[in-house]
Amino acid sequence: MLLDSHAHLLSLEDPEGAVSRAAAEGVGKIVSIGTGIESSLATIEFSRKYRGVYVSVGIHPHSASSFSEQAVREIEGMLEDSKVVALGETGLDYHYMNSSREDQIQSFEAHMTLARSHSLPFVVHVRNADEELLSMLRRSDLSSQPGVIHCFSGNYETAKKYLDLGFFISFSGIATFKRAEEVRDAAAKIPIERLLYETDSPYLAPVPKRGKPNEPCNVVYVARLISQIRGLPLEEFTSIVFENMTELFPKISKDRDGLI
Ligand SMILES: [Zn+2]
Ligand SMILES: [Zn+2]
Repeated sequence: MLLDSHAHLLSLEDPEGAVSRAAAEGVGKIVSIGTGIESSLATIEFSRKYRGVYVSVGIHPHSASSFSEQAVREIEGMLEDSKVVALGETGLDYHYMNSSREDQIQSFEAHMTLARSHSLPFVVHVRNADEELLSMLRRSDLSSQPGVIHCFSGNYETAKKYLDLGFFISFSGIATFKRAEEVRDAAAKIPIERLLYETDSPYLAPVPKRGKPNEPCNVVYVARLISQIRGLPLEEFTSIVFENMTELFPKISKDRDGLI
């Protein structure tokens, strides 16, 4: 059974069709990621139609300027829902800087606090901000709340720093790009029990689908490539990663009944 640990289903043109196509490809679980209050609420509603669609709720670092105390209370109100398995995506993006550094830090800290008080894992987005993110993580005691660095695009040395803090590392279509040798090297070397994979749909379509909107059925290209890098048959690889996913996100059912 394939999975997609990170997709934005409601950013797709045809979310229902995308879920059907993913199911037909053998994808059994999708974690669909909210990027703000409205998108988180809408994603929860959408997830109710599908057995294997789960939700992470939070405010994307790009939108961190919309962060407020009221937003924290609204997110907190969603956390007991049976379909909500994580907080995020949250983190720091100093590449685009769509929100100020101060707003991103404040929002990320609030997500970390919620993760800790609700014993939920959190989904972290980081771009051009590893050092600051790492020092924030080191200052906070998160040992009992593991998280995932999604769409990992760094090298093994950087991955190691997150692994040392108990994080999982999730690889996207970036790993299939020609110039991503360092990312593939990290995918080859990290402990397999900390590895996940994802599409980040509708972004980052993997080779050979580049240039088109991405969707969860394409996760097979990412999974196949990483299974080859790891020297494992695809079925064995996907079965290991399935276990990893249910360890990171304990609210996801361990059943293998499929997506729909
Ligand atoms: Zn992201
Ligand atoms: Zn994302």
